[in-house]
Amino acid sequence: MIEQKGILFVLSGPSGVGKGTVRKALFQKDTALQYSISMTTRPMRSGEKEGVDYFYRSRDEFEQMIEDNQLLEHAEYVGNYYGTPRHYVEETLEKGKDVFLEIEVQGALQVKENFPEGVFIFLSPPSLEELKNRIVNRGTETEALVMNRLKAAKDEIELMDAYDYVVVNDKVESAVEKVQAIVKSEHCKRERVASQYKKLLEVSQS
Ligand code: 5GP
Repeated sequence: MIEQKGILFVLSGPSGVGKGTVRKALFQKDTALQYSISMTTRPMRSGEKEGVDYFYRSRDEFEQMIEDNQLLEHAEYVGNYYGTPRHYVEETLEKGKDVFLEIEVQGALQVKENFPEGVFIFLSPPSLEELKNRIVNRGTETEALVMNRLKAAKDEIELMDAYDYVVVNDKVESAVEKVQAIVKSEHCKRERVASQYKKLLEVSQS
């Protein structure tokens, strides 16, 4: 049998865009992807479970993990640490299974440095589209408000540069379908398929 490594998919995007909602809806449908459960120092919210939503750790424990290089990436977000356990990701990819991360943008950039072969999906707020319309149909907003929105949009667009795909989160269902389409397309990419064929030929010649 030809061993093929899994693909690392990273879903990220600006705060409040709905990454968690899209990820949960995706995992209700898709069982082939393996979700990497993050570590966090934030308190558990009601309804959450250790080892299901997160691995909950103290700041000391988290900092020890950073020191021991056990995290693929980590970031501080609203006063708490969040990070991706390195071992789970590497082991799962080695087994040929696809891994899915849902993380904020600073972390996604770190993953990109360590795993440039990963597939980076930027979840974009629909307001960006709306914003464009508003700017085009000027006149209703004060100039200061338009400038503020433009600045925010510009920052968001600049964040997109490091990503392979942009999915607008207008409707959760449609965003999920697009992510699933990306996963399928990535499996059909020539680079990935060709290397598999080459390995197959090597095996049949020996
Ligand atoms: P929440 O506290 O609402 O569950 O998550 C807050 C933010 O942390 C979300 O944007 C979520 O995507 C992000 N996040 C969750 N896990 C990780 C992680 O392992 N690493 C990074 N960098 N961000 C994460």
